[in-house]
Amino acid sequence: MRSSQLFTKTRKTIPADETARNAQLLIKAGYVHKMMAGVYAYMPLGKRVLDNIAAIIRDEMNAIGGQEVQMTALQPKELWEKTDRWDDKKVDNWFKTRLANGVELGVGLSHEEPVVDSLRPFVDSYRDLPLYVYQIQPKFRNELRAKSGLLRGREFIMKDMYSFARTQEQHMELYERVAAAYLRVFERLGIGESTYRTYADGGYFTEKFSDEFQTVSPIGEDTIYVDENKRIAINKEIYTDETLAKLGISKGDLVEKRSVEVGNIFPLESKYSDALDLYYTDETGEQQSIIMGCYGIGVSRLVGMIAEHFADEHGLVWPENIAPFRVYLIRLESNEQIIRTADALYENLQSAGIEVLYDDRDARPGEKFADADLLGIPHRVVVSAKTVEQGVFEHKLRTESAKSMRNMESLKNVLTTGA
Ligand code: ATP
Ligand code: MG
Repeated sequence: MRSSQLFTKTRKTIPADETARNAQLLIKAGYVHKMMAGVYAYMPLGKRVLDNIAAIIRDEMNAIGGQEVQMTALQPKELWEKTDRWDDKKVDNWFKTRLANGVELGVGLSHEEPVVDSLRPFVDSYRDLPLYVYQIQPKFRNELRAKSGLLRGREFIMKDMYSFARTQEQHMELYERVAAAYLRVFERLGIGESTYRTYADGGYFTEKFSDEFQTVSPIGEDTIYVDENKRIAINKEIYTDETLAKLGISKGDLVEKRSVEVGNIFPLESKYSDALDLYYTDETGEQQSIIMGCYGIGVSRLVGMIAEHFADEHGLVWPENIAPFRVYLIRLESNEQIIRTADALYENLQSAGIEVLYDDRDARPGEKFADADLLGIPHRVVVSAKTVEQGVFEHKLRTESAKSMRNMESLKNVLTTGA
């Protein structure tokens, strides 16, 4: 893409009411547009980052057999009454709305009920199980505070998956398979080392724990206790001597850290399936309950988290796998030979499958370099009078200050293999 064709520009000012650093950076760089507190729209560069994260998650969910669907935002009240989750006293962050005739509707904050409902016409035999269903789409929650930018939205993007098993034993297998897939997701997102599977509260209807995936970062709202050797953690919310004993964790091995909850997985037993009348018939013809699990990842929270976590004083710093483009190509000065060389390099890299944002504007060098830093694209390549004269290109990584002069072959090498 050419910068001259990208409708967003970097901004000098940000909305006065925006206090979260992740949103400030993303707004300044033109990645998102703030509609109101806790509600952000994705501009072209932000959309590319969001899609890149979603693509990694989708890939790992498909790899374990997940089947992708898209549920609706509008929800019938009756469905949620069956599981006793409609009442504001039970679930306090519903957005609700009405049809013209007065009928009440809910605006999707989670999708256990709708997913179970949608399976009823299709699932009734042991042959239909096990099964994973997932989606990546917006959720709506009337959060009390929305001061953390993309980390806590009132409208946000979640990946939610639901598993359906014949037995408790089969459920545990499915559950552990997702937990392993989650670790691969966070690895691929560039936060594998700092993300821990974390024991947490299981919710109000189970004695069991849930597992959160917490990324250690000073920007986090959560407090966890990390056992570095075992690579597990325990959420402060359940940190008691009794729980530690139950989990076989000793206090001495734990270090307190701030963290961001990027994912959360729960055993659901058969609460939702039973309540919504989803059963299966086993080999002997007997009706049995279906054991469910649910598995969330905060996709848009990850955009904000990664933005803020890796940023430096000059701007964003995207990990390679999720950056909106691989290369920020700067053309300095606008004489014909420089334009011709830069245009040719742009075409050449594009046809080699390397995604380039080509700064072809007639702007001052200082502005182009500042934008390159703010946008946080991993590789910066400069074409100038000097490089043209020497028949090379200047290459610099966003994370390093060293520059190197490279011929075409060497440049392509560093862009594709990092060597
Ligand atoms: P939290 O405790 O942070 O409010 P939660 O436990 O209510 O989150 P879940 O229902 O488990 O959230 O949702 C799954 C994932 O979705 C969370 O792990 C988190 O990453 C993300 N998420 C939840 N609420 C929000 C929100 N308001 N904005 C952005 N992401 C969110
Ligand atoms: Mg949670």
